[in-house]
Amino acid sequence: MTSPATSATGAPDLPDYAPVPAIAKGAALNEHGYHVWQVERNLYAVTDNVYMSAFLTTPDGVVIFDAPPNIGHNIRRAVDEITAANGLTNQVTHMVYSHHHCDHQGASSLFGGDIVRIGHEETRRLLLRDDDPARPVPDVTFADSYTLEVGGERVELAWHGPNHSPDNIYIHFPDHDTLMFIDVVNAGWIPIYNLNLSDDVIGYTGAPAIALDYPWTHLISGHLGRVATREDVAMHQQYIADIEASSREALASVNPGPIFKHYGENVWAAVSAHLDAVTEHATAPVIAKYTGVLGGADIEIYTRTTTFAIMQSIRLDRGPSGPVHP
Ligand SMILES: [Zn+2]
Repeated sequence: MTSPATSATGAPDLPDYAPVPAIAKGAALNEHGYHVWQVERNLYAVTDNVYMSAFLTTPDGVVIFDAPPNIGHNIRRAVDEITAANGLTNQVTHMVYSHHHCDHQGASSLFGGDIVRIGHEETRRLLLRDDDPARPVPDVTFADSYTLEVGGERVELAWHGPNHSPDNIYIHFPDHDTLMFIDVVNAGWIPIYNLNLSDDVIGYTGAPAIALDYPWTHLISGHLGRVATREDVAMHQQYIADIEASSREALASVNPGPIFKHYGENVWAAVSAHLDAVTEHATAPVIAKYTGVLGGADIEIYTRTTTFAIMQSIRLDRGPSGPVHP
């Protein structure tokens, strides 16, 4: 029997990667493990360098945008720190859900049952399905758009179709030059597995263009240590465009004939060998181009699984899936 090698510190024998590029570096965290900063006027973001949440301080109360359990009680600490420094109430009155996923909302219940929760109608349906006491269902829902007005501030919520999840919305702060849009673009980093674990490939790959249609300077994207710029979004779009181009090239150039001939009646083995070869062919140049440019680019399984998802979408959604039998 073998077991993974273990270092003197008790950690498994983990692979090494290239240094994190400067563009991907996070903030210095305080003794509680968070960093909070002013995005624009009374809009603040808080991060643990993995997850990001935001809040708006107003004379009538605080509005929280997402409550990731990774940040957890530090959301309250950050709100208390900022409101105390500005002589404002620290009472949380509203919470907006970007989407239903537990990794972004699992600390919602820390703020009790007396606040108004707002989300897309599909978020409510999915949270009723998931029945998680950590994520109380939204009281206020909308189908296409909703304007939230609290303490003289205005926030525009909108749903433009499924992307990362069926219910993921765009949260625009027109008076704060900011858009909050979660789990699609990561500032300075590539997406993790399968386009950030996304449901809808076409929706996901089209979403950055929708985000760029809004006027904003700061993008709160839900992860890592800083807000994204419009240049970060363009870089993400280029990474995805490179994968699409590489996938099309690989689908056209890897010949399945010899693979199917080799496996004979085991056609599933041939399908696997063919698609694995296409994925490998498409992935290699993208990893080479982005290593040292975007964080995580040399973690090969991320680009490989994202490429596989995009390549399948090219075959299944956009077509052609392959040559038509004569
Ligand atoms: Zn998510």
